[in-house]
Parts: sequence; C-alpha cells; structure tokens
Amino acid sequence: MRPNRPLYLDHHATTPPDPRVLAAMRPWWEENFANPHSVEHAMGRAAEEAVEAARAQVAALIGADAREIVLTSGATESNNLAIKGAARFHAAGGRKRLITLATEHKCVLESVRDLAAEGFEPVVLPVRGDGLLDLAALEEALRVPTLLVSVMAVNNETGVVQDLAAIGALARAHGALFHTDAAQAAGRIPLDVEAIGADLLSLSGHKMYGPKGVGALYVRRRPRVRLAPLFSGGGQERGLRSGTLPAPLVVGLGEAARIAAAEGALDAGRIAGQRQILLDALRAEIPGLRVNGAWEQRVTGNLNLTFPRVRAADLLAALPEVMLSSGSACSSAEIAPSHVLTAMGLPREECLRTLRIGLGRFTSPAEAQQAAALIGAAWKRLASTPAAAE
Ligand SMILES: *Cc1c(COP(=O)(O)O)cnc(C)c1O
Repeated sequence: MRPNRPLYLDHHATTPPDPRVLAAMRPWWEENFANPHSVEHAMGRAAEEAVEAARAQVAALIGADAREIVLTSGATESNNLAIKGAARFHAAGGRKRLITLATEHKCVLESVRDLAAEGFEPVVLPVRGDGLLDLAALEEALRVPTLLVSVMAVNNETGVVQDLAAIGALARAHGALFHTDAAQAAGRIPLDVEAIGADLLSLSGHKMYGPKGVGALYVRRRPRVRLAPLFSGGGQERGLRSGTLPAPLVVGLGEAARIAAAEGALDAGRIAGQRQILLDALRAEIPGLRVNGAWEQRVTGNLNLTFPRVRAADLLAALPEVMLSSGSACSSAEIAPSHVLTAMGLPREECLRTLRIGLGRFTSPAEAQQAAALIGAAWKRLASTPAAAE
C-alpha cells in the first residue's frame, strides 16, 4: 500500500476493490470485451464461461447452487427485485402483508412502502434499543398471513447482526417468504442460505472489496421461489433480469466472493484487533464516549459512536484528512438525523453527535492509532470551545 494513502474509515459506504479483483477483471475489459450472451462465437463463449465461473463463486460464498444466483447491478436492484418481484408474482394471492424493520436500508423501506399503492400492507417493525429485532414482535406481526419478511443481515450504520436463523424459522413456520439484505454481511460474517432459511438474499460487489455496479440476488429453487421481473427485455438471467451482463464486473464480483470465502474469517479477526486499538485510544481521550448498538452481535469493523458535546458535522469538518461519515452515504447529505439511530431511540440531538466508523481489510494498526489521535485531538479542540453543543 502507498505510504500516504488517505485514512479511509468509511467501509460501510464502500470498500476499496481488492487488487486481486482488479487483476481478475482487467482481461475482460482489455482482451476479451465480447458480449457474454454472444454464444455463437468463441470470444462470446469464453466470456460466458467466465461469467458462469463467477456465478459459481458467488453461490459458494452463501452455500447456494449457481442456478440460484441472479446477477444484478447491486443490492439496491436485488432488494427491489426480491421485494417487488415476490409481491407482484403473488399479487392475486390472499397474502398482502409485507413485514420489514425500521432500520432497513432505504431501498428496502421504500420498496415495501411503494407496494402499498398496489394493495399490499406494509408493516414496519420497531427495533430494541440495541438495534436488534424483538422476535416476539415479529411473531405477533406474523399472526396475520404474511407474504414476505425482509430483515437485513447487518446494519450499515451500526454493524448490528440480526438473528437470521431465528427470523427465517419464524417466517417459514408462518408460510411467509424470507428475504435478507446481506449487502453488509457478505464477506464480514459467514452466510449460509440453508442455515439462515433464506428464500431470497441480496448482496453487492462494492461492499465486499469488489467492483461497483454489480450485485446478486439469491433465489431459492427448492422449494422454488417465484418472482415477477422488474425489467422487460431479452430475458437474460432466466427471465428474471433482462440486460447484457457486464462480464468484467461479474468476474470481479466472483473473485471478491472467492476471497471473502477463503479469508473472511481471518479478515474479521484482524479487523477486530484494529477496532480495539482505535476504540481504546479514543476512550482514553474522550470521557463519556458511547458506542451505540449491540456489541457482541456486531461485525468487527464497525463503531457507531456518540461524542459528548460536539456535533458530528463539526468533527467531520475538523478532520479533512480522515474519510468518515455521520451516517449512511445516501442520507448523510440531509440534515435529518439517521432513521436507524432514531428507531433505536436516540434523541435527535444525540444523533447529530454520532459518527459511523467502518474499518476494513486493509486498515493497519498504525492507521487505527493515527485515526484515534486525529479524532481525539479534534474532539478536544472543539469540546473546549465555548460554542460546543450542550
Ligand atoms: C450499500 C447497501 C445497499 C445498496 O447497495 P448498492 O449495491 O450500492 O445498490 C443496500 N443495503 C445495504 C445494507 C447497503 O449497505
């Protein structure tokens, strides 16, 4: 790694592509640019083979069969396809209820809410103060016949890991489909669609050290889960997702999945060490610093921190050399407090004093130390000025 690379602590917004991913993609930009659906010539067939090998690598990461993987443009599309596709396919059936969580990514919340206009009944469950779903509340909601339960695996602001196996078992016992948005989980925690009982699972290349603009949706074959496609077109991806597959991106996603399967556990252990260095150093500098969300049921790279007296926006402005954000990349431009923290019961004023830190595969101990020193110094400077928020 370059010595003066930026201090990047925003791995929940996106991860840097692994150099091995870039190397795997390169020939499919430069040497063989063929359309992987052009199977009448040799270049097309080679591209198709590369796409199918990548599909198998994605399947292997989550304990699925390659035929259960639909390639998409990312987790936003996968989530839309899973939720709207399942609802619309079953529109004539009796089940109208769609259950999700208040802390979901906006693309899940908005997909479920949009379906109200098509006659479905969205139910958005609250979470506990630690960010976890109360299983009794889910069971209660499932007393009304339910079409789909969509609960994210790992939250993108707090890193909190939901009890997927228990949620999947409850959904199945009540005859509901279970979808999980695993964009933040793939590569960070082990994922097995059988153990989870997932019918549908979304993931995204750029959250797992792969390229941006590609993702996947797992669609269970036994018993077969049926979806209505979002796009009209050439009928690629078994009719579920028309459009030419971007072979270089798909190859990159496959390589990212291969690395995640082989090294994910090692990464998680190493990242936990860097996070401890960072947190210990911050706590030594900042009395009253608070971590939001469950600690044990959490990915190792995440810290969601509420700072005493100083606003997150002021801290970020004072720390131009550290790449950090106060919430999810898509909502942090808004002044509104995070819907995730609000759902966990944080008062608005505390939300505005909260930062999300995401460490990753390439974060070094020295960087963790350096980040803590910079953040600690900025906090001290701001906390001692009379303008500091009360
Ligand atoms: C990033 C993210 C998404 C969106 O994924 P894209 O591939 O960027 O569309 C969805 N859900 C979660 C939890 C995410 O972190």
